Amino acid sequence: MRVETVWLGRGGQGIVTATYIVANASIIDGFHAIANPEFGAERRGAPVKAFLTISKEPIEDQEPVKTPDVVVVFDDKLIDSMRFAIDAVKPGGYVIINTGKSPEEAKKLVGRDDVYLVVLDAIDIARRHVKLDVPNGPLAGAFSKVMGFPTLESIKQAFETQLGKAVEQNFAATKEAYEKAVVIPPARVDASAKPKGIISTTSAFLTGPYEIVGWREVNKAGAVFPGTSLFYTTGGWRIDKPVIDHSKCIMCRKCWLYCPDDAIIEAWREAEGPRGRKFRMKAIDFDYQYCKGCGVCAEVCPTGAIQMVREL
Ligand code: SF4
Ligand code: SF4
Repeated sequence: MRVETVWLGRGGQGIVTATYIVANASIIDGFHAIANPEFGAERRGAPVKAFLTISKEPIEDQEPVKTPDVVVVFDDKLIDSMRFAIDAVKPGGYVIINTGKSPEEAKKLVGRDDVYLVVLDAIDIARRHVKLDVPNGPLAGAFSKVMGFPTLESIKQAFETQLGKAVEQNFAATKEAYEKAVVIPPARVDASAKPKGIISTTSAFLTGPYEIVGWREVNKAGAVFPGTSLFYTTGGWRIDKPVIDHSKCIMCRKCWLYCPDDAIIEAWREAEGPRGRKFRMKAIDFDYQYCKGCGVCAEVCPTGAIQMVREL
């Protein structure tokens, strides 16, 4: 028996820790396991994938997983940019997804009817028990539920060695996920069918207008092309989004000053005066393409005009 898995998410969501916890718990249960993370840019929010192979037999290779039995998705907004990983799941395999969407909506998003779909709102569970937006414990619980291993007790032991703190809170989140994860079986499985794609290198994370040029087009040595963060849409990282109550805003622009992503903008909006007269005025707004949902603007606003609202 050998199960090959890929865990996909963003830096800061605990992807690597999740694979170490499931690997350690599986070892406690008598399996062999090997976990290899693969990073792009090593920074919060950047896409991360981690490979985890669990086997009853010793594992002698350390190759990245190309066609997984299980893909665990930490952030449903990554599905479009990581479609290659969903396509690579073996027919009859599992896609475990953290999403606030209903199972029907999640099914449409994943777009495969030949795999088991496992749906849970891991962020909601993590927030209630651990007070953090780190869904790794709940996703480990969902994994345990559908695979039948590692056992919950072994996951708890792995929390003790891997985290060393907040063990009870993390375990409560894992247990709730184990109980609540919704499993949708495949509509059809052709056992002889092959996956539509494979998971390749880190380059699969790249998006944007990159092109490979020949040696004649390459710049002179030492010259660097101008860069831009325009195509780096940090809005995809968001779990909560800022929403403004214009009646409380005094236009002090403190939010603009502190926003780390230049996502506070001023835009014209229709307003109504005390006698019903309509007029246009400049007002604070958000550029949701780049707002990563950090909540700094809501923290610094002196009038409480900005609230963070769950979006996932
Ligand atoms: S939530 Fe963060 S990124 Fe978004 S507008 Fe507020 S400060 Fe900027
Ligand atoms: S910090 Fe608050 S009051 Fe000041 S401009 Fe921003 S939303 Fe308005």
